[in-house]
Amino acid sequence: MKTLPLIIMLTIFNPIFAKPHMIAELGDLSCIEKSTNVKKQLSEVNIKTTGASRSEKKLLANVTETIEKLTNQQQAETILGGLTVNFKDVLRSHSSGGCLPAHQLVPKQISIGRKCANGYEIKLQLQEGIVIHEIGHFVANKLGLYSKYTNQVSRRCRLTSYMRFTRTGRKHKNRNEEFAEVFAAYLIYGKKLKRSCKKSYEFMRKNLFLGTESLCR
Ligand SMILES: [Zn+2]
Repeated sequence: MKTLPLIIMLTIFNPIFAKPHMIAELGDLSCIEKSTNVKKQLSEVNIKTTGASRSEKKLLANVTETIEKLTNQQQAETILGGLTVNFKDVLRSHSSGGCLPAHQLVPKQISIGRKCANGYEIKLQLQEGIVIHEIGHFVANKLGLYSKYTNQVSRRCRLTSYMRFTRTGRKHKNRNEEFAEVFAAYLIYGKKLKRSCKKSYEFMRKNLFLGTESLCR
């Protein structure tokens, strides 16, 4: 397997593009479970955090519980185990001048920012969708799924514009962003994903979710 780029960055909130273009902005967050025991939930699937507030830990626990509900504890650990999520006020300014709400510059670590460098606050609601998108990158790297996805899913999914283009309109060099968006869609935009991108949907269902259909309809 070829070495896959670990550096995944995304820019959002560039005012030039006002229309929603990521699953984080479109998804139905009512599809996310509400964890009742945050500490237990995170330790069960072997996720660590740094700098996280109580509500941010809860956000993560909710996402992991959603994945566990779709699958089981063992598979949730296969998907999530070994991940560290770092929460910080501001990550840094993005080279394009846009906001940088998340990155994965260190293997097995997701960093999530609370504010853009210009002070614009990132809503917790959006953070949830962004965390899920970033987990998509994490699991693809962990289980070597980018090349498998590219080989097996010949038809590109174009559910969101971020699947193909950066916020500033440049084309992505590979389909890694498409993968992360499809992963996020499975959890919070499942019905539309199944309808518009059947092969992408089936890939996730078979390779990650033990055959269970998306619970988000
Ligand atoms: Zn991404």
